[in-house]
Amino acid sequence: MKGVSWIKRRQSRKIWVGNVPIGGDAPIAVQSMTNTETCDVEATLHQINQLADAGADVVRVSVPTMDAAEAFKLIKQRAPVPLIADIHFDYRIALKVAEYGVDCLRINPGNIGNEQRVSAVIETARDKNIPIRIGVNAGSLEKDLQKKYGEPTPEALVESAQRHIDILDRHNFDNYKISLKASDVFMTVSAYRILASQIDQPLHLGITEAGGARAGSVKSAVGLGMLLAEGIGDTIRVSLAADPVEEVKVGYDILKSLGLRQRGINFIACPSCSRQQFDVIKTVNALEGRLEDVRAAMDVAIIGCVVNGPGEAKEADIGLTGGAGASLMYSEGEKDHKIDNEQLVDELEKEIRSRVAQREADIAEKSHGQEVIATS
Ligand code: SF4
Repeated sequence: MKGVSWIKRRQSRKIWVGNVPIGGDAPIAVQSMTNTETCDVEATLHQINQLADAGADVVRVSVPTMDAAEAFKLIKQRAPVPLIADIHFDYRIALKVAEYGVDCLRINPGNIGNEQRVSAVIETARDKNIPIRIGVNAGSLEKDLQKKYGEPTPEALVESAQRHIDILDRHNFDNYKISLKASDVFMTVSAYRILASQIDQPLHLGITEAGGARAGSVKSAVGLGMLLAEGIGDTIRVSLAADPVEEVKVGYDILKSLGLRQRGINFIACPSCSRQQFDVIKTVNALEGRLEDVRAAMDVAIIGCVVNGPGEAKEADIGLTGGAGASLMYSEGEKDHKIDNEQLVDELEKEIRSRVAQREADIAEKSHGQEVIATS
């Protein structure tokens, strides 16, 4: 199977957001954030469920008021994945959601007021084993840093982060991760590179306010791709002015393209040309739509003719090479059988689903075997 990564990851300290490990040898976690009104418990839960179905490992929820904190309590009770509460300035909200069982606090310790308040939040986080995410953003850089550097720069972002880190250090608190986001790719990349060399905490990557679905995905892929390829990054959030479910899908696509994580079908498809023996684009689009629910990782090559077809098909779990009237399906790199070009979508869906079921059964059997060994 394709997707082996050549990347050597930076060795970060592992922390836990609920039952999801972040950093160390853990898979790079994909996260997103709800954009519903948090006080609308049902709408927010609906979106959290959609995000979890798309593969979000953790979900962030904005908690701007005490009313939202009360709603968060109800949301948390029914959420299928760990939740991060996004809090700005008001330390009482942080204490409240901690009481209600939040899995991570996104709060900048330098922004919550006097030492007593900072201590109250940090001590509560320590008592309840709740990690903190420091989130530095170029758009909300401290005024004195803006003055010192003239404009947001990578060094300014790192200095801002360092202030929050110093506070946590003074309290001997190391259960945290950090993000340093800017909408400029080079500024973001450069800031993360500097910080990655200074600390061993996990890093949450993101290009903030990246833009709409298409341009924002490209910008995120370029920025996050540069960092991930260098081994930097333990969790990612793609920020798009679009449905947050898209953020999760794009996040996985970025990780898949670097061989860092696999989930669902990885389609290898040619762009098609006049040599194509069936409509490649239509076939791929139809299969992508039909197979969105698949979680098991699998490479499927859909290639329009024999120019590149056999080569790609041999590398994939299932491959298809276009032929006149009927196309040749490969299984595990070997020629398997021909499929009538009129039946391609239906037949391929059937083949892929049966292979997925087999793979899932194998995994279940293996993990059952491990349980038996563990309990014997
Ligand atoms: S594989 Fe064949 S159909 Fe696809 S782009 Fe290349 S030449 Fe065209």
